[in-house]
Amino acid sequence: MIRFEGAGKRYGAAVAVDRLDLDVPEGETCALIGPSGCGKSTSLRMVNRLVAPDEGRVLLGGRDVAESDPVRLRRGIGYVLQGVGLFPHRSVAGNVATVPALLGWSRARVSERVDAMLALVGLDPATYRARRPDALSGGERQRVGVARALAADPPVLLMDEPFGAVDPLARGALQREIGALLRSLRKTVLIVTHDIDEALILADRIAVMRGGRLVQAATPEALLARP
Ligand code: ADP
Ligand code: ADP
Repeated sequence: MIRFEGAGKRYGAAVAVDRLDLDVPEGETCALIGPSGCGKSTSLRMVNRLVAPDEGRVLLGGRDVAESDPVRLRRGIGYVLQGVGLFPHRSVAGNVATVPALLGWSRARVSERVDAMLALVGLDPATYRARRPDALSGGERQRVGVARALAADPPVLLMDEPFGAVDPLARGALQREIGALLRSLRKTVLIVTHDIDEALILADRIAVMRGGRLVQAATPEALLARP
């Protein structure tokens, strides 16, 4: 579903991503892990065209993303960022309603969808609809981020350190819950993290990057079994 074919990106003389080859089959979750600066986010952002590779290409559903209209492309891709991703001046409902409203859904349908998405991520709609992001905990904010990303039911989800702003005590439970949700919805997910535990909980496959290169790709079981 997501396929990197020799995708590379440099900034000046510095190589951010070095000819990445990676395949994420439909319905699977792949975690990109590795130390800060190794090229994870740059790789992720090639998928929704926030970054254009300067060699190779990225395919989505068999189609080179460089040849897709970026607006249409992004409608099929949910994007969840660490903490800062919500619009601060909009209510929880306004945030979750963003893409369905852009797609021109009727007000009633948007409203129904907002409530369904909030319930799906474990937030009582009546309690949370009108709240502003600054009145939410880190975990609640990430739940709203996931609800917003899923609102128009995109087949693909990109997540960049989605649990980075969640307090460590609540993080494991939230990771397991969101992981189970994404699996039940059969989304194709690419998630960037530097947290190996997060990758082990969420991913069907873990791709390890270092210095812009993919150094290993394996199932969590295979990674854990390594001597
Ligand atoms: P990671 O997500 O693994 O922390 P990034 O993909 O963000 O790594 O960055 C990879 C490398 O590319 C880093 O050295 C970073 O400084 C550099 N880089 C990323 N974005 C830019 C940019 N817009 N301009 C210049 N250098 C960048
Ligand atoms: P803001 O979030 O910008 O303060 P609103 O809360 O009025 O403004 O929300 C903006 C958009 O979010 C509305 O146009 C509507 O589509 C959607 N929206 C707002 N409230 C609800 C709600 N209770 N249920 C569903 N959608 C809502």
